[in-house]
Amino acid sequence: MKNYKIINGVILSFRDDALVTEKKTLYIREGKISFSPFTDSEQYETVDAGHMLVMPGLINMHTHAYMTMMRNYADDVPFQEWLFNRVMPVEDNLPVEAAYWTSMLGFLEMITTGTTCFVDMHMYHRQSALAAKEAGIRAYIGRGLVGEDLFGDGYSRYKQALEEMEEFRSDTMDFILSPHAIYTCSEKLLGQTAEAAREKGMLKQIHLSESVTEVEDCLKNHGKTPVAYLYDMGFLDEKTILAHCVQMRENDMELIRESGASVVTNVASNAKLGNGIAPLCQMKDLGINVCIGTDGAASNNTLNMFREMGLLSLMHKAYARDCLAIPSDYIVKAAVLHASRALKNPAIGNIEEGSAADLVFVDLNAPSLFPNNNIVSSLCYSANGSEVDSVMINGTFVMRKHELLTIDRERVYYEIGKIVNNHL
Ligand SMILES: [Zn+2]
Repeated sequence: MKNYKIINGVILSFRDDALVTEKKTLYIREGKISFSPFTDSEQYETVDAGHMLVMPGLINMHTHAYMTMMRNYADDVPFQEWLFNRVMPVEDNLPVEAAYWTSMLGFLEMITTGTTCFVDMHMYHRQSALAAKEAGIRAYIGRGLVGEDLFGDGYSRYKQALEEMEEFRSDTMDFILSPHAIYTCSEKLLGQTAEAAREKGMLKQIHLSESVTEVEDCLKNHGKTPVAYLYDMGFLDEKTILAHCVQMRENDMELIRESGASVVTNVASNAKLGNGIAPLCQMKDLGINVCIGTDGAASNNTLNMFREMGLLSLMHKAYARDCLAIPSDYIVKAAVLHASRALKNPAIGNIEEGSAADLVFVDLNAPSLFPNNNIVSSLCYSANGSEVDSVMINGTFVMRKHELLTIDRERVYYEIGKIVNNHL
């Protein structure tokens, strides 16, 4: 593995929860960040990061990378119709191998816009993991689980999830148990998943309280909100990641805070599907660990975290009618530091001695960011992702000066074209 000395860059890091930007030299040794210079006997390449911001890679905490082929395929359609009549039939008919390419297109978009790590929920055995390994992107892979019984009708999916973990777990890939939602999983399956997660020391994720229909159905069927339903069955804990949490009722947020679970907000997806706006200000004030996700490309319709950060900040200021509602430094922390906390992985999400070298080089000379009056707020209010010049993951460049080094863009487009022609 190559070592790098990164000079002349402005480094963005978190120190005692505060954002710091400073000129500093980084030494990348065996994939890890260090501040101690190389000795005479060490080999390295010098990287001039002049006029670059070097920041920890963005972490997309909730997505379905394989859904890229459905980008703009079912827009302006009501949520239930979108999910059950448009998205699911395509998923059901897609050949498994196609998901390798549709995931790869997702990684291409993520890397070019500064995402170095993502949490996936997929439907196709091995394909996301295979593609992520090839792309060199850090991944938390989750097989979507549905049905009545984890060891009955859901068993093949659960077995596949464990097989996938066995085959692919590495320095840059981990696995997360992923029951889809309370309306596609029985109470029994949810309880079994929670038990399996505890037994195996694994993280788990679920879509929760995304729509009014979900909440009303749960109140009708169980006499409680989706959050209370999961809380009462002991599903929620600090290794649980809750995607959406838009429709919060009663004391839902207090239950989430008490359990230590993290929330992933997906502002563009929630807005586009007409599901509403999550009460982010209240979650922030309660001290809930809030992270950011894009959701899939069929509901957003991009996997660009810079776009998500900008929207999140602006929409909550507008919603709260308060320009101080969500400051930009909170958004940057949510996109990086909060994510590493939710993933229980302190090796990512910061630039400090010993961290994994997941670095994004942002061109501060880009017209959209110049004249750099406030670098942190520019990441929320000005950046659109095109300013990402280079990306390093675990000490290896996957994009350098806009050139992709692990993904063949032409091949991906060719394969996606075939999939769209045959299956959409
Ligand atoms: Zn989702």
